[in-house]
Amino acid sequence: MILLDRVTKSYSRRSGTALERISLHVEPKEFVIIVGQSGAGKSTLFKLLTREEKPTSGKIIVGGMDYEHLRDKDVPLLRRKIGVVFQDFKLLNNKTVYENVAFALEIAGISNNEIKHTVPKVLDLVGLKGKENNYPLELSGGERQRVAIARAIVRQPKILIADEPTGNLDPKHAWDVIKVLEKVNKYGTTVLLTTHNQEIVNALKRRVVTIADGHIVSDKAQGQYRAS
Ligand code: ADP
Repeated sequence: MILLDRVTKSYSRRSGTALERISLHVEPKEFVIIVGQSGAGKSTLFKLLTREEKPTSGKIIVGGMDYEHLRDKDVPLLRRKIGVVFQDFKLLNNKTVYENVAFALEIAGISNNEIKHTVPKVLDLVGLKGKENNYPLELSGGERQRVAIARAIVRQPKILIADEPTGNLDPKHAWDVIKVLEKVNKYGTTVLLTTHNQEIVNALKRRVVTIADGHIVSDKAQGQYRAS
């Protein structure tokens, strides 16, 4: 469960308020699309959830962890609960598909046996069986994003944040990525997605939260979106 209660974030006095008293409640296993123009506050919301930024005021609770009482040593545990994918993939181009995903487990101290068991399963889930030995630059954008998703979910986070994952993709590859997000969601992961793609939002028929100028201005089940 994700709970934000009257959360405000100002980066500095000069920059004004990025988010102002926003309250949001997301149940486990929900699929929520967050829309809003550039500068509305979407990335700030994500950075608060991953604890890259701290709120100026207000309460944040994720998976039973109250951020107010979070100690530095709790942050890795929190980050384990939240996988993140970005518009620009952020893959390691000198590592193969397999190695990119395995690396997320290696740095977590997972045993080689478990890595060998887990990575192929996750690559299969995102539809990349047979691409294990390719390097990211040998793949299409859609495939690269699916590697990034595999890496983000390989430690089975409760929440997957996808920040404009289709922003660099043509429609066909964008849909391949969205289908994978739906599958990950079906297996029980909460998905928070931002996109400017009107067609995708309207076809998904999911909850749509609209942020404008640091405020939540609408929150609708099976919401629609008109990009302006
Ligand atoms: P979005 O993701 O919807 O484009 P952001 O959350 O990135 O919006 O930005 C919301 C507001 O916060 C904008 O006015 C932006 O300029 C400001 N902002 C974002 N990051 C910083 C930062 N590190 N320092 C100062 N202001 C920031």
